Amino acid sequence: MSDDATTEPPDRAADSEPMAEAFTYNGGRVDPGESANIRYGISETYLGDPVRIPVTVINGEQPGPTVFLSAAAHGDELNGIEVVREVAHDWDHSVLHGTLVCLPVMNVPGFLAQERYLPIYDRDLNRSFPGREGSTSARRMAHRIYTNFIEPCDIGIDFHTSTRGRTNMLHVRANMEQSDVARLAKAFSSNVIIAGEGPSGTLRREATEDGIPTITVEMGEAHRFQRRLIDRALTGVASVLAEFGFHRESSVHWPGWRTVIDDDNEKTWLRADAGGIVDMKRGRGALVEAGEAICTITNPFKEEEDIVTVEAPFTGLIVGVLENPVVYPGNPLCHLVELSPDTLTALERERTPESSRSELRQND
Ligand SMILES: [Zn+2]
Repeated sequence: MSDDATTEPPDRAADSEPMAEAFTYNGGRVDPGESANIRYGISETYLGDPVRIPVTVINGEQPGPTVFLSAAAHGDELNGIEVVREVAHDWDHSVLHGTLVCLPVMNVPGFLAQERYLPIYDRDLNRSFPGREGSTSARRMAHRIYTNFIEPCDIGIDFHTSTRGRTNMLHVRANMEQSDVARLAKAFSSNVIIAGEGPSGTLRREATEDGIPTITVEMGEAHRFQRRLIDRALTGVASVLAEFGFHRESSVHWPGWRTVIDDDNEKTWLRADAGGIVDMKRGRGALVEAGEAICTITNPFKEEEDIVTVEAPFTGLIVGVLENPVVYPGNPLCHLVELSPDTLTALERERTPESSRSELRQND
């Protein structure tokens, strides 16, 4: 008999379940089991009134990690606002393990003007993180947001849409070289992940470098609510909350197929070689064959000899595409992505109508 067998076992219960802690920010606290809707001042207008961002903090009764969900760093990118609001206010968090920090509108001046950038000198809030005290107006705002509501978090998801005039498939952008970021990116369960660290000053890059694994979710177009994309993103959030133990009764979602694209390959954006008016034949999420016509570019007179037909250089998936149908030479037309044979097969199978799929099964 070893000595260990006679020793009193340590009190494991007390060790393994730490107490839930209060979420604190400069000016307040949200205790375990409580939630709060906060209007937090990040700047002042020309009239000296406060510029305040809406923040909802939901602190679960049970201990666990802290996640931020943020949107509208670009003021006209609306889809994410609805995702964050529904998670914060429509979901049942009565058995939440951990804390949700919901920031539906970060760029309040841009949101009020329905513009991408901060209307003050057209600064990009999403190039101003983590911000700095005593610096420009954009960096001061970023600093107030970052120190109070991002720094206390363990992971984060920042929601965006395509730039105005374009649209994109729902996809995740993440630094896949970091395993904890890759875990988060995969948990969101999108079909497409674009790998890369992102530009300096973006919330996801700065937070990730600061030890808070963060992904960006790109979905659809600016100035709209797109219900199907919002629902798809909500599935992603639920899957992340399951993966990281916030909602232990839920399960992680598998998207059916997944492709990870290297962001450095800028060549995947097909650009116009002629100026003119674009007739786009295929939309966001379409699978196009090599040599297939994606669009035509015509002059105002639709003169036959001047029609330019743009063909797909390879078989691939349209991840992003022009919506505003006018181009100068050099403007992007679509973001075409090559798929591995396995992914292509899985995607084609998913898109085969139910009737022909059962036909296929009979033939198998
Ligand atoms: Zn954006």
